[in-house]
Order: sequence, then C-alpha cells, then structure tokens
Amino acid sequence: MANQKGGVAKTTTVVSLGAAFAEHGLRVLLVDLDPQAGLTFSLGLDPDEPAIGLHDVLLGRVGIASAVTVTGTGPEVLPAALELAAAEAELLVVPSRERVLHRALAPVAGDYEVILLDCPPSLGMLTLNALAAADEVLIPLQCEMLGHRGVGQLLDTVADVRAAVNERLLVRGILPTMFDARTMHARAVLADVGERFEVPVLSPPVPRSVRFAEAPALGRPVLRTATRSAGARAYRELALGLLRAWGIGPGRRPTRRRAG
Ligand code: ADP
Ligand code: MG
Repeated sequence: MANQKGGVAKTTTVVSLGAAFAEHGLRVLLVDLDPQAGLTFSLGLDPDEPAIGLHDVLLGRVGIASAVTVTGTGPEVLPAALELAAAEAELLVVPSRERVLHRALAPVAGDYEVILLDCPPSLGMLTLNALAAADEVLIPLQCEMLGHRGVGQLLDTVADVRAAVNERLLVRGILPTMFDARTMHARAVLADVGERFEVPVLSPPVPRSVRFAEAPALGRPVLRTATRSAGARAYRELALGLLRAWGIGPGRRPTRRRAG
C-alpha cells in the first residue's frame, strides 16, 4: 500500500485486508514501514515498548524471524518503532540500499501466502524499499478534492523502480477510500482518476464510516469490531477479488502454523 499523502487509508487497508485474508485461513504478514507506527498500534501493540522492530532487521542487527510478532487478530506483524526514522537515514549509506527490505524478507517470504507492506507518507528510502520488494502496488486514494494530485508522482516513482530494480512490479490499481456515494464530487473523482492515470480502479470503493476511526484505538481491525458493517464487507469483497486475481482459491483453509 503506497501513497505519499498521509491519511488516505493505507494503514487501514493493510489492517483490513490482512484480517480478510486471515479469515480465509491464509498466513499473512503485515510489515509496518512507517516510523509513526500506526499499523503496529492498530494491531494492539505498543510502539514505545522496547521490542525488536523493523529497524533492527533493516540494519542487520537481528534476523527477520525473531522480529515477527503474532497478534491476537490473525496476521503476524513486523512492527515499527520511532527508531525506524533513524534507520531510514542509515540506509542511505548501505550498498544497494533500495534492496535491503527485499533481502530481509527473503528468508520468510515462503512462509506466507500474502505479505502486505504499509508505506509511510513519503517517497523516501522506506517506500522505495517497499516498491523494490513488492510484486504489486495498491494505491489507496481518498475521493476528495485534490486527493489525486500525488498519484502521478507516485506512478513516476513506480516506473523508475521498475526500470532500476524491480521490473515485475505491477500497479494493481487505485483503491478509492472514504467514499461517499452521495456526493457528486466523489463520483466524479472516481470516474476521472482511472482514465487520467490509465490504471485500474479497484472495486468496490470503501465507504466512509466512523467505524474505521474507532477500530485502531481498540487494537483490532474493523472486520472484528464491526464485522458486518459496510466497510468490513467492502474490504472482504476486495480481498476476494485480489485472491481471484492471484489464483489463490478463496474459502476457509486450515491455518498452517509454524512450530515454535
Ligand atoms: P494512512 O495510513 O494513509 O495515513 P490511515 O489508514 O491511518 O491512513 O487513515 C487515516 C484516518 O482515516 C484514520 O483515522 C482512519 O481511522 C480513518 N479512516 C480510514 N478509512 C476510513 C473510512 N473508510 N471511513 C472513515 N474513516 C476512515
Ligand atoms: Mg499509515
């Protein structure tokens, strides 16, 4: 999930899709690449606790397996702490600095069916590492005035990453979030944005709902706190569409658990 604009529901989408995939019994890893640690917090973990986090992994202090934490809600998480901001600066002097996350994930990548990367609101070294490591990028976009201004710049960055380090990187599409179907404006933005940038617009749009604001403080995804809400249903449907596109059969699978 990438968009250098903050507050467009990147983190909410990672948490919600992660929960939806876990409902199918898939093994899911969520990676918090934002030093503000919104994802870590949303999953009920305390970013201020001196736990091992992504910064330790990126700087080669620990192996990734010892930094991954189980959550009460299904997916596993590679948490962030404020130290991640300093780690981003240190990455600048590491050889092939945009491939550090890719290399770090390699030992555990085969343990998961889905790995979701939650980017920070910038196009810095952490987002570049995410784009270099990912198969696909999904762009959450708030359907409001000027919400789409950064998309062109993000797509230029994706093109650069593709040319330089990750030629298979696919733009899965723009995900309209905080969508209010009652306003003409939201519908107009939606119609315009896919055409203008020549990227797919994913469906369904995620409706605006106060339920999303409540969930992070409870440390649980909206799929758990308001399981039948329109927002939860939208993310479940979106997850099903992605599984179909990836050729992963939907349906409840027996959850495989790593021993130890
Ligand atoms: P980002 O990670 O892009 O900065 P967040 O996922 O943290 O964005 O979302 C920003 C804020 O918007 C949060 O308070 C979140 O609870 C809220 N939010 C996310 N999705 C929705 C939605 N569909 N309706 C209403 N509020 C939402
Ligand atoms: Mg976020």
